[in-house]
Amino acid sequence: MSDTVTMDQIVSLCKRRGFVFQSSEIYGGQAGAWDYGPNGIELKNRIAQFWWKEMTQLHDNIVGLDAAILMHPRVWEASGHVENFTDPLVDCKKCKTRFRADQIPEESLKTKTCPECGGELTDVRKFNLMFKTNIGPVEDGSGLIYLRPETAQGIYVNFKNVLQSNRMKLPFGIAQIGKAFRNEIVTKNFIFRSCEFEQMEMQFFVKPGTDEEWFEYWREQRWNYYKKMGIRMDKLRWHRHGPEELAFYAKDAYDIEYEFPMGFKELEGVHNRTNYDLTRHQQFSGKDLQYIDQDNGNERYLPWVIETSAGLTRELLMVLCDAYEEQKVADKGNEDDYRTVLHFNPIFAPVTVAVLPLMKKDGLAELAQDIRSELKEDFVTDYDQSGAIGRRYRRQDEIGTPYCVTIDYQSKEDHTVTLRDRDSMEQIRVPRDKLSLAIREKMKSYKRV
Ligand code: ATP
Repeated sequence: MSDTVTMDQIVSLCKRRGFVFQSSEIYGGQAGAWDYGPNGIELKNRIAQFWWKEMTQLHDNIVGLDAAILMHPRVWEASGHVENFTDPLVDCKKCKTRFRADQIPEESLKTKTCPECGGELTDVRKFNLMFKTNIGPVEDGSGLIYLRPETAQGIYVNFKNVLQSNRMKLPFGIAQIGKAFRNEIVTKNFIFRSCEFEQMEMQFFVKPGTDEEWFEYWREQRWNYYKKMGIRMDKLRWHRHGPEELAFYAKDAYDIEYEFPMGFKELEGVHNRTNYDLTRHQQFSGKDLQYIDQDNGNERYLPWVIETSAGLTRELLMVLCDAYEEQKVADKGNEDDYRTVLHFNPIFAPVTVAVLPLMKKDGLAELAQDIRSELKEDFVTDYDQSGAIGRRYRRQDEIGTPYCVTIDYQSKEDHTVTLRDRDSMEQIRVPRDKLSLAIREKMKSYKRV
């Protein structure tokens, strides 16, 4: 299998097959924003559901939350985002390109020359990444409000609410999936870094002194999550934050990195955030956020937090890159020799089963429609009757449909259909009344090729 997928191949497939479109494309596009098409939203929802199930259903002590995007502006003062959530920024006076100072060669910074055109660079300036807007009718600054740059703060400010309403006991976690906004300076690499994106974050509250063991626990859990997803594990690695990277309040931090077409890049962070956030919110809000430990003589303290912070949209890009293959399947000397195939784990595929009548005529289409309506209750299905059957298989391969059911003349005679496997392209005959079961079993025993 070729390991050399390029971002251009991914971008082109995403547009061609309705995974991801440029935002406001007919107006020339809006940088840093992307629209998820019919296949993209299915894929995104399935990844989100997988994460949600992993976090909430499979962990007895984690509950969910959906906090508002708009929060009280003091939240961001307390969190440190107003003061510290900045990127260092330089501009080229000649070609006007804007760079993140930490992303250009050190030599360029020293000599103040543009890495693109050799022109003169400005001094490094701090640039806050939070989007500001205004709430209410008057625009005199009194209604200043931010679009949240992370979902985590929505969890911290609800710590007491969740604790009390759901009678939680330490250790416990709160999970949330939602939009976040950052005024990113460099938004290249497709959906990897955008101004509007989605995060999947979980904050795990623990008794002080137990943070290190929970930190290790969550590192292991998050690594195993990707194994369970069926991602190629040789494409993942850990990166530990050095002293210069570590946030000033954090005790320890690791990133899980995936080898994207542009190299190893952060996918998710596992952070030991100490009791920094709750301490700050307690200070700024004046509300007592301490936990009363009834198992330990009603001792009062602020819990420590282990955070797992993943990007949903970034994970979607990873799933696409990980699944993509251009495969040689024949030797006829024409373009049909190749197929583009997405080797999605079937649980993520936008369409699980495509139903294809071999011919439109002789009652095959009607029979196929009938079989499709039977499968609909259990699976996401597609129906396609146009064009040569080989072409239809290719179309399904390209969006990663793991199973194709073909209805042919024999189906009319003996009530069997063929079931084609996307990865091996093998076809087996299955009795119609065993079809659902056969698909379910194949899904269960799925292994990444
Ligand atoms: P970077 O250093 O690359 O800017 P970060 O360390 O600031 O990222 P976090 O604040 O830890 O990122 O965010 C947690 C996760 O949210 C990241 O691991 C990533 O998956 C996702 N994420 C962050 N910023 C973006 C973005 N602009 N676009 C898409 N996903 C993002």
